[in-house]
Amino acid sequence: MKKNLSNVPFVSVENMMRLILEIGVEDCIASIAQYIEQDFRRWPLFDKTPRVASHSTDGVIELMPTSDGIDYGFKYVNGHPKNMKEGLQTVTAFGLLASVETGYPVLLSEMTVLTALRTAATSAVATKYLARKDSKTLALIGNGAQAEFQALALKKICGIETVRLYDIDPAATAKCMRNLAGSGLKLIACTTGQEAIEGADVVTTCTADKSYATILTDNMVGAGMHINGIGGDCPGKTELHKDILLRSDIYVEYPPQTRIEGDIQQLPADYPVKELWQVLTGEIPGRENDRAITLFDGVGFAIEDFSALRWLRDRLAQTDKYIMLDMIADPDDPRDLFGMVLREKGRMETV
Ligand code: NAD
Repeated sequence: MKKNLSNVPFVSVENMMRLILEIGVEDCIASIAQYIEQDFRRWPLFDKTPRVASHSTDGVIELMPTSDGIDYGFKYVNGHPKNMKEGLQTVTAFGLLASVETGYPVLLSEMTVLTALRTAATSAVATKYLARKDSKTLALIGNGAQAEFQALALKKICGIETVRLYDIDPAATAKCMRNLAGSGLKLIACTTGQEAIEGADVVTTCTADKSYATILTDNMVGAGMHINGIGGDCPGKTELHKDILLRSDIYVEYPPQTRIEGDIQQLPADYPVKELWQVLTGEIPGRENDRAITLFDGVGFAIEDFSALRWLRDRLAQTDKYIMLDMIADPDDPRDLFGMVLREKGRMETV
């Protein structure tokens, strides 16, 4: 018998927020991190390509596809640092999961909020494997849309207790302090990046500026630190001074993409970097000693979105936080698409 595959579950922004509140933000991130870890451990079997980017003066629009041979997923995402000044998000996204067997979509979802969860989960996975085990203090530089998610992920998964916050816009830091009050984290607002980084074990930079910015200079980074550099994610958009890169053990998601988009775009194309998934599988060691500086040059890779969509699909089996969309034209006789349109005309005339 023919399966009804024409109606596709759709998770709206409203339903995503309700789902997250029902589960709890930290538990969502922890659960997505488990899916990311599972997928990183089976990294070689995925289709991989650097994301397809369309650049303009003000930003970038990207498509991020991948497949594990059973499911296929892609995300549409933009990055427009100037949007914030106009009251718009810097990053917005939606995504889709489809069956490789039929090619039919099985899930469509908002991904602006989901991207913040998966980006935080990815930073936490990197920190879990690369930071010193006794890390307790996070310097969070860039206190915009991603920031609270980053802080909560590192609290939940890596045992961070104190967050030192800095943003060039004090209003962003104040917003972050308000949103994280009651999280159990000790919060310290700082007036410079230098002050924020004092005593930090882990530093996450998530600033947005379409330029070669220098959020961290070499003298700010001490022995034993772990850095998640997640805001440098586009050609011409970096956050770290080149000298920091030269002192660090650098870990990336997918080198062909990170060499174009990450902070390592400042280095020669053959500069040695390590792949994070290989640390998870045990193929390469992570942190070598307590004095090493480790850098996760995160740009966001399609497999992380795929993991997040897999997580969401599994969650939908236990919740009503979605609607069904009449998304795929599916005539009873697959060759009679035209007849299906004509029959609708008949139905319209009888109404
Ligand atoms: P956002 O615009 O909401 O916030 C960015 C913040 O950075 C703002 O508050 C801004 O005032 C601050 N800022 C800019 N320049 C600064 C500087 N020199 N020093 C300190 N603060 C500074 O953006 P967002 O959604 O939070 O995203 C942050 C960055 O992360 C963006 O560059 C985005 O493209 C990137 N991002 C990366 C990933 C990934 O997977 N790696 C995922 C999502 C977003």
